[in-house]
Amino acid sequence: MRVFALLTRENRYSFSPIISAAKGKIKILDSLSQLNKGDVLLFSFQSTEFERVHDLLKKIPKWVIKIAGGPHATGLPLHALHMGFDFVFAGEAEEYILDLLGFLEGKKEPPPCLWWKDHPGTICKGVEIEKYAPFSENLPIPIEITRGCPFLCAYCQTPRIFGRKMRHRSAENIIFWVEKLVNRGIKDIRFITPNGLAYGGRGGANSDGVIYLFQELGRRFPGANFYFGSFPSEFRPEHITFELLKELRKYLANERIIFGAQSGSEETLRLLKRGHRISHIIEATEATIKAGFRPEVDFIFGLPFEDEKQTLDLMKRLAEMGARIHAHYFLPLPATPLAREKPRPIGKILARSIEKLTGEGRLFGQWKKQQELSLKLYKINMDFS
Ligand code: SF4
Repeated sequence: MRVFALLTRENRYSFSPIISAAKGKIKILDSLSQLNKGDVLLFSFQSTEFERVHDLLKKIPKWVIKIAGGPHATGLPLHALHMGFDFVFAGEAEEYILDLLGFLEGKKEPPPCLWWKDHPGTICKGVEIEKYAPFSENLPIPIEITRGCPFLCAYCQTPRIFGRKMRHRSAENIIFWVEKLVNRGIKDIRFITPNGLAYGGRGGANSDGVIYLFQELGRRFPGANFYFGSFPSEFRPEHITFELLKELRKYLANERIIFGAQSGSEETLRLLKRGHRISHIIEATEATIKAGFRPEVDFIFGLPFEDEKQTLDLMKRLAEMGARIHAHYFLPLPATPLAREKPRPIGKILARSIEKLTGEGRLFGQWKKQQELSLKLYKINMDFS
């Protein structure tokens, strides 16, 4: 049995560790013409990609066994089966990938989180990430240093898919994998984490753990450029302090620091269960600039409960302070408490101000594209969740 992974720019971060955990049993697909009868094709995709994946599925012969994984399939397995997948693997796959392949060969029981028509499964969570390589040798990617998040932001899939317990790689383990990358001539080193400044802790800011990690990395790999607090790792605003960023400035190559605000309304933040206040956003912006970074602050438009005026006022204030606004449109993501909430159209005043801020180079983002997708996701959730 031949097993292929369909790799895209978007899914390489989730596939690379799985390919490694499969110990050489998964090959990367170069072209659809490679596929023969009985081959297995693995997909991993986010909800933002479901239409493209749906179109692609139509081009794949029926006799190929198609398996979906990743955030969309995990959040809404029944929709992934409806799209045309034969199986859905829901959750974290490192521990179960060999069982899955054994099952397909008729040698093992199916993993508990495998779904197929009229056979619902569970969601596999809780892999000790340190037990597995963060990337496959032929697919080096940023090193995942933490998985899981104790916060419960209502629009976010992370705690629902990966659980609320933060699972960290130890500093020694991170150093081991950084060395592998550096030895391959890779100088730009990035990290994956949902909550960077909580590294090593239980969810609150953990300055000692974060500083120790970067002091060690800086000392051992003086020629490497470390990126932290910019994609694919973000900070929470209430964890940012001038002292912590000033110390990190010595080791980091990134100019930007990204953190989430999402709204300028205290009430909206409360309803979103963000767990921080507006004052934290303003203080984080000040501290970031003072420490010599450029803040990029995430906002979400079109939330079902939103005070657009307050959000606009905060965006303008932050932009005047020197921040860039990273604009998103609300996506009702499967498995989140807001999955069945209808996105709200943007009001005229906010729309005009967004155009102005964009023209001034103070706002950017994919929010327009996301607007169309948002309603489609809402409808899917209504039908399949
Ligand atoms: S948005 Fe960030 S802090 Fe909030 S639940 Fe998701 S990962 Fe955690």
